[in-house]
Amino acid sequence: MKSKVVVITGASSGIGEACAKLLAEKGHKIVMCARREERLKEIASSIREKGGEAIYLKADVTDILQMEEVAQAALTEFGRIDVWVNNAGLMPVSEIIKDKVDEWDRMVDVNIKGVLYGTHACLKIMREQKEGHIINMGSVAGHVSNPGSAVYSATKFAVRALSDALRKEEAQAKSGVRITLIAPGAIDTELLSTITDPDALQSTGSFYASTAIPALDVAKCVDFAIDMPPEACVDEVILRPTLQVH
Ligand code: NDP
Repeated sequence: MKSKVVVITGASSGIGEACAKLLAEKGHKIVMCARREERLKEIASSIREKGGEAIYLKADVTDILQMEEVAQAALTEFGRIDVWVNNAGLMPVSEIIKDKVDEWDRMVDVNIKGVLYGTHACLKIMREQKEGHIINMGSVAGHVSNPGSAVYSATKFAVRALSDALRKEEAQAKSGVRITLIAPGAIDTELLSTITDPDALQSTGSFYASTAIPALDVAKCVDFAIDMPPEACVDEVILRPTLQVH
């Protein structure tokens, strides 16, 4: 299997961390970014101890210049970008009546604009390479919307919409760039840590405690999509825990 250069946003915990570790084990070269530099350093060290290759940068996905710097660092270190995983995201859920406007803004900025800025940073490079793969982390919440998850769901519906259009644009242009949407259900990560509304934390917390599955399961889906031959694009993967009903 060809070793690929894989950039992962939000690689300091959860799904991003699991992807970094699994893909490094598979022989890919990893470029990680997030805001918590110490966490990235530890993950990079653990990858290198096992013989893998990884670099990291402190970067915020809501800053377009920082996303360009991440792309540049990948080119400087490894010479190309084969895969870019737009994974960074947050989920401070609450009912609309609670008026948590700052949290709405933050979700729009990170979950939607972060995906756009990441795509901006890598797409032209991939077009020049005549191949590449953008993987966007959507959610089951990008298919169904429930009380409390209106804004989070809206951001993930948006990620699904833009992934679908981008896939069509790249297919039409015959650019060789593949787009994959991964839509997980409940995954055991730090995602609930930004919930400030006690009611939402209680209900989401008990749902996750009974249902959530390991982040490694999502990383395996990402690995599967990357590993498909260039003429085959895994358009979307929906990964629900076996016990998750909706
Ligand atoms: P975590 O909270 O464990 O990870 C979120 C990651 O995003 C962290 O690495 C965090 O790093 C990073 N991040 C947040 N804000 C920014 C920012 N502004 N700039 C750069 N990085 C940022 O949760 P998950 O691993 O679960 O979440 C990863 C993705 O998976 C998200 O998009 C989430 O919506 C999605 N998802 C998760 C599901 C779940 O049940 N866990 C289900 C469906 C989708 P740092 O704080 O260091 O910046």
